[in-house]
Amino acid sequence: MMTKEEILNAAKKWEDFCIALRRDFHESPELSGQETQTIARICTELRAVGLSPIEVQDGGVLAVIEGDAPGKTVLLRADVDALPVQEDPCNLLRKKECVSKIPGVSHVCGHDCHAAMLVTVGKILAARRDFPGRIVLMFERGEEGGGNLRYLIDYLQKNHWDIDGVWGMHLNSDIPAGKFAIRSGPLMAGGLMFDITLVGKDGHGSRPDWANNPVDCFQTIQTALDKIRMRAVDPNDAITFSICRVSTESQRPNIIGRTLNFAGTVRYFDLERAYRPFSKAMRRIIDNIADAFECEAVYNQFECIAVPLINQSDCYEIAKQTLTEIFGEDRVVQGPLKFGSETLSYVMSFWPGMYLNLGIKDPTLGTGSGHHTAKFDVDESQFKTGVAAHIGYALAFLESSKKIQDFKPYDGDIWDLLGE
Ligand SMILES: [Zn+2]
Ligand SMILES: [Zn+2]
Repeated sequence: MMTKEEILNAAKKWEDFCIALRRDFHESPELSGQETQTIARICTELRAVGLSPIEVQDGGVLAVIEGDAPGKTVLLRADVDALPVQEDPCNLLRKKECVSKIPGVSHVCGHDCHAAMLVTVGKILAARRDFPGRIVLMFERGEEGGGNLRYLIDYLQKNHWDIDGVWGMHLNSDIPAGKFAIRSGPLMAGGLMFDITLVGKDGHGSRPDWANNPVDCFQTIQTALDKIRMRAVDPNDAITFSICRVSTESQRPNIIGRTLNFAGTVRYFDLERAYRPFSKAMRRIIDNIADAFECEAVYNQFECIAVPLINQSDCYEIAKQTLTEIFGEDRVVQGPLKFGSETLSYVMSFWPGMYLNLGIKDPTLGTGSGHHTAKFDVDESQFKTGVAAHIGYALAFLESSKKIQDFKPYDGDIWDLLGE
């Protein structure tokens, strides 16, 4: 089993490789679900160290590193997709080290770094098999769209890969470079995305009685939706709701458009207590008010993009202890509850896990612009920190004799959880 010094030395030794690989990914970003070249490169790199990557159609890649003794299975995950954002060649202070060569597409969430770090972890661990159990590397397509992970989970479930624990790490531009933000219990919100069209009847603004203006219907729906937060959900359960876009077909003040489209999102931390009653009430209100106004409500989208992400308490303890031992107490801080969402929550509904953030904000480097913004940039010197953290956690988890208590897996498969 690798010692703390060996882990840090290995991460340092592979630092140049990791940075170079990340720059390759960064220069040739691919959008969610279209990561052909990225996936091919990941497989090539894993094969080069004797691993046998399995490509799961539309899902991504899985690779197993078998230890030299029987034991548990820990899954480490990285996402690999980019975003439809035109990257700014400068960060908050200066020119970036590396910029996307694809117009309108860029890695401004840091998934290029996640992928490069996990490949590096694979390179290091493939050469060292002196641990009990096995380590699964999982490269997930389409994290930003939320839809591709289902195929990986389906593959794991159908093929009975008995996963004992899960780990995921995201770089974070709000947190000082080199600090880990960790939290036990709920960390990130579940998210519903909705996009609904109300279909009425078009007409002249002077004769609303000859038309059926969907704006009237929408106003009533919006008022009713504002009320259900208090009516449907226990006030102790956090939930937010926003309508973010409203548009009609009308091009002039005196034209009543036939349709009105509205879209938004709901964020929550408890699937059964908050999400289910809220979404049920939402649909009832929309359908019944549309009916009362003789409009048709067309659901273009009404789906969860993630469930709440809950860090399991024993996994949290292992992470806290390991990170503190490797990096020191001052590098590990308590993170806040976040209303953003993360697809790893689906994996962590079936298997206990730990998800955390590693800070990359450094004003002297110009990093710190928010994720998904054009000026987003990373502190590449933190990759070795991230690589060492992955390895440290995986080995500590496999070595730990602690029985995971206090985890109830979702009762059903991924399709049940998605409500399909
Ligand atoms: Zn993102
Ligand atoms: Zn991300």
